[in-house]
Amino acid sequence: MNDEKILIVEDEKKISDIVKSYLERDGFKVSVAETGQAALQLIKKDFDLIILDLMLPDIDGETICGSIREFSDVPIIMLTAKSAEEDRIKGLGIGADDYVIKPFSPRELAARVKAHLRRTKKNEKKLLSFNDGLLTIDTLSMEVKKGKDVTPLTATEFRILLCMAEKPQMVFSRLQIVNAVQGYDFEGYDRVIDAHVKNIRHKIEDNPQRPVFIKTVYGAGYKFIGAPD
Ligand code: CA
Repeated sequence: MNDEKILIVEDEKKISDIVKSYLERDGFKVSVAETGQAALQLIKKDFDLIILDLMLPDIDGETICGSIREFSDVPIIMLTAKSAEEDRIKGLGIGADDYVIKPFSPRELAARVKAHLRRTKKNEKKLLSFNDGLLTIDTLSMEVKKGKDVTPLTATEFRILLCMAEKPQMVFSRLQIVNAVQGYDFEGYDRVIDAHVKNIRHKIEDNPQRPVFIKTVYGAGYKFIGAPD
């Protein structure tokens, strides 16, 4: 049993009921918000993961995701009926960690929830520092600093950065990255990884066009090129 708290934001009761029952069977404590307003009231509470439907009657999921990201890096899995790739990329741009396209298998969603929570938890305490302290990564608090300033990364962005920073100069393919941080691959993952890397660069690089930390290796993937202190 675990007592991790999960918030489901979903207006279709049929869907929230089945997801809730799957997650409760796994021992999670589950709350449901049926409207965007109700979600905004609840998100200040300390949830371990949020499942967020993109299409809500009052406030759209993107807006809620943005509100959550103003104060929290809690893992967010978005539910959406839109299957277009562009919507996935857009969602990741606003800070969601993962996407599930409706109709989905509740079992698969529950597996993804567990994968995200496992990865958030297993970090050992370690401080990685690069380029004379220009970039530091605290693996316990999941805090990334650019110089003296904390730069907020989402849980997924943090895991991508960490998996590469732990092995400087090693080339990671997009498939290796998605497997390292998600534990499974999915259709279109390569573009999703590219979107995450773009976001990370904007957060940690002085000039994202001329990165000094995450370098693109054309035809192969990415590598972390910071010099360990
Ligand atoms: Ca909906």
